[in-house]
Amino acid sequence: MDCLFCGIAAGEIPSKKVFEDEKVLAFYDIDPKAPVHIVVIPKKHIASAAEITADNSGEVAHIYEAIARIAEELKLEKGFRVVTNCGEEGGQSVGHLHFHLLAGRNLGWPPG
Ligand code: AMP
Repeated sequence: MDCLFCGIAAGEIPSKKVFEDEKVLAFYDIDPKAPVHIVVIPKKHIASAAEITADNSGEVAHIYEAIARIAEELKLEKGFRVVTNCGEEGGQSVGHLHFHLLAGRNLGWPPG
């Protein structure tokens, strides 16, 4: 399968790792949209948020546990945002489920 984030999860494509365990990898986004911009992925390939089911939702729960740990380790006590873009109009450009962890500035609401 030709998937960029599977390649990063496998270590075949380099990334600047922030956190890793058996199920999850987090790495710095190559084109950051905030002073802190981390991409958090399940190592297992899930194409998008539209593909989350009862069989794989445990991966997502585990990702949110990892995000809380990362936020604590990076001392993001002023706050952060977690965003998942899904599909063409949702702005998804990589077809492997991922969560953007954004912090370090006032992110504003609603998003554009
Ligand atoms: P999305 O557009 O929501 O699918 O998010 C994909 C994200 O992956 C974008 O923010 C890209 O900047 C980021 N990205 C693409 N290639 C890489 C890479 N090789 N290493 C780190 N981040 C990447």
